[in-house]
Amino acid sequence: MASTAITRIGTLITNNPSLGHGPLGQLHDAAVVIDGDRIAWIGTTSETPTTDSHHDAAGRAVIPGFVDSHSHLLFAGDRTEEFTARMSGRPYTAGGIRSTVTATRRASDQQLDANLAAHLTEMRRQGTTTVETKSGYGLTTEDEARALRVARAHTPETTYLGAHITAPEYAEDPDAYVALVTGPMLDACAPYARWIDVFCERGAFGADAARTILAAGRARGLAPRVHANQLGPGPGVQLAVEAGAVSADHCTHLTDADVTALADGDTVATLLPGCEFSTRAPYPDARRLITAGVTVALATDCNPGSSYTSSMPFCIAVAVREMGMTPEEALWSATAGGAAALARDDIGHLTPGARADLALLAAPSPVHLAYRPGVPLIEAVWQNGARVP
Ligand SMILES: [Zn+2]
Repeated sequence: MASTAITRIGTLITNNPSLGHGPLGQLHDAAVVIDGDRIAWIGTTSETPTTDSHHDAAGRAVIPGFVDSHSHLLFAGDRTEEFTARMSGRPYTAGGIRSTVTATRRASDQQLDANLAAHLTEMRRQGTTTVETKSGYGLTTEDEARALRVARAHTPETTYLGAHITAPEYAEDPDAYVALVTGPMLDACAPYARWIDVFCERGAFGADAARTILAAGRARGLAPRVHANQLGPGPGVQLAVEAGAVSADHCTHLTDADVTALADGDTVATLLPGCEFSTRAPYPDARRLITAGVTVALATDCNPGSSYTSSMPFCIAVAVREMGMTPEEALWSATAGGAAALARDDIGHLTPGARADLALLAAPSPVHLAYRPGVPLIEAVWQNGARVP
């Protein structure tokens, strides 16, 4: 297998405190050796072993590839008009999902696949090397299963979200929809999914339905994660902790008891600032969570309704500006935090043996991701050890 050395790295973020200084394990004038799809060696430029090829970072920064642990990319259609209306004063509700459901059901498998592939390319160009993505715009057994089948060809991090909203056909009988989601739809989707998720929110699914859905998924070998406390206070976060969910996502409206439950449990709080930005809503308080000892991840929530950004650097900039995170904390949450939210130990850090997923920045320090918002600072990306365009 071919080996590559990246040398003269001005600031290398390993996220491994045993390899460098501070919680991000920083090294200066550093080098990384990639062998096959793995990190083979990390050290200083002057000690770099001989390799097949060589890339000169010329003093710029290298970080682990971003881990975007929350997105909804199996969709068709566009909600520009809804965004325009919202920016003209109309509030966001869970109901807008229905228009994407209509467009997604009409799309061919090829259209869904091409749309997903285009978004994944867009993400890679912005430094993202791992993407979780969900079903949830089909809401029939066939449409949910095909969304996950399409997704599975691109990423192992697939989430069954039949419980996004109650399918329009079941508006008068939501219990029958829960029976479908936990029965035939689950049977059809489970072979293509690693995770099961539920939108536990007023207007979507209440606590009892959410518990039933997560338990059914777990019985089929799917690990739970929860959309929780996005639009208002609710049972989602504590239910996620009770269910042993690896992540509670959104966490925008939290009581002290919610924060305590997260701090006492193992559930990661995944914050999605693109969503508050795009719905003109108050941001989650990352500082409060970090102070309480909660593990925080950042993700895009990329979807056509409430957060149509695919940019982790954008999320980092907003998290630093609006959510009380330091630049170091936001970078950690967008890399190692995302890996924690996917229960992965092979990504989110640069350590010999880890997957060779990394990004070279057009900047001497990763602080520039927040300091220079909106500027395309990702110069090169390696995914599974291969340089990707
Ligand atoms: Zn979401």
